[in-house]
Amino acid sequence: MIYEPVIGLEVHIQLLTESKIFCSCSTRFGAEPNSQVCPVCLGMPGVLPVLNKKVVEYALKLAIATNSKINHRSIIARKNYFYPDLPKGYQISQYEEPFCEFGSIEIQVDGRESRKIGLTRIHMEEDAGKSMHSESYVSENESLVDVNRCGVPLLEIVSEPDFRSSKEVSAYLTRLRQIVRYLGICDGNMEEGSLRCDANISIRPQGQKELGVKTELKNMNSISAVEKALDYEIKRQIAVLDDGGIIQQQTLLWNANKNIVEPMRSKEYAHDYRYFPEPDLLPIVITEEWIEQIRAKMPELPLVKKQRFMSEYQIPEYDAIVLTDDPSVADYFESVAKKVKDKKAASNWVMGEVLRALKEINCDIKEFSLTPDSLAEIIQLVEEDKINLKIGKKVFEECLSTGASPSKIIKEKGLVQISDKSEIYAIVDDILTKNPEEVNLYLQGKEKLLGFFVGQIMRETQGKANPKTVNEVLKQKLNDRKN
Ligand SMILES: [Zn+2]
Repeated sequence: MIYEPVIGLEVHIQLLTESKIFCSCSTRFGAEPNSQVCPVCLGMPGVLPVLNKKVVEYALKLAIATNSKINHRSIIARKNYFYPDLPKGYQISQYEEPFCEFGSIEIQVDGRESRKIGLTRIHMEEDAGKSMHSESYVSENESLVDVNRCGVPLLEIVSEPDFRSSKEVSAYLTRLRQIVRYLGICDGNMEEGSLRCDANISIRPQGQKELGVKTELKNMNSISAVEKALDYEIKRQIAVLDDGGIIQQQTLLWNANKNIVEPMRSKEYAHDYRYFPEPDLLPIVITEEWIEQIRAKMPELPLVKKQRFMSEYQIPEYDAIVLTDDPSVADYFESVAKKVKDKKAASNWVMGEVLRALKEINCDIKEFSLTPDSLAEIIQLVEEDKINLKIGKKVFEECLSTGASPSKIIKEKGLVQISDKSEIYAIVDDILTKNPEEVNLYLQGKEKLLGFFVGQIMRETQGKANPKTVNEVLKQKLNDRKN
């Protein structure tokens, strides 16, 4: 029997606002535990929450970017449950009438035709605190609670069960993370928990319409963990059915150390949330005018930027995909490309040297010491034949380690390319005279030796000779000897 997996996702993204969703407490990550709290986010009696306007603006940006239908009036709800990290005993969220619905996100897997994944809804809510059970400072029989995260704004993005493989899921998460980074509303860091993903998964015999029993997968904190966990769970469900068993509806936790899924203790998810409209907050009213204001300020989105890079700079699709992956890298490339004639060279340098250097020194491109101007200068020097590509790469390294400008390095180190034919004539003659045996072999037809001569000449000139001129002169001189 061939089975088909059916997967839907719930993604939570933490918004990059300065303050929390219903009070003015800071949202800064990594502060002293329980230092960023007030009566509002602790839910003390007699206090009233006030909605942070920025949260709605950020939510609108994502709604526009995903072509969602924005509801002009939406309701804020209370989701009731007890947990030690939720001192209020309820979470403020949206349930019926969320602020937007029916959006989509385009994905592409393995170069196949792109496909749209439907979004059921996006809604705003507040985060809960954090319990610590297994940290070094917590003994075996105790847990500590940090409520700094209570009231940090989140958007929950619920997809339709449109995924048919773990690969599609990882393409979707990668695209979603890219979009929220482009919008500047979330840093997309899964390890730190600012982007979290839960998955619902079931399998059914291929061709069957009816859905199988689903399980819920939690606790995956990287895109590759999500992919691994889903592959594991698909295999597990197939094995159960092939054995004549039945799938139990349950919540499973991914254990990244053991690479297996483990069932969550059943009491932990047997919730009846008793949702009801939040009596302390008015419905959210979004006017068409407000939507238009946000739309006018929208940044260019990844897929549009990719297309523009391909047409404006005439670079291949592969280059455009790599360069637009991170909006800061895209900006860097554009600043370089605007200054040089050879746009493909700009793309090669950024995709090659720049990304490699960033990885090596573990640095964000925003803090990269080599400015787009300096890189453009190196590329121009190569374009104008003042240095060759190999020396250009040397200059790049020197710029990185010393911070000096490319022209200064070239001047100080005497790296200017030797393009003067008469100078190269003399060096070629010298090399050919010193290697009579190789010259003979070459003349007898062993043309591969051309590389040997080029190597000798480059060594003699410490790499500064213009390779094109060297090849020309060399061929000419060797031909002269034939006659
Ligand atoms: Zn507060």
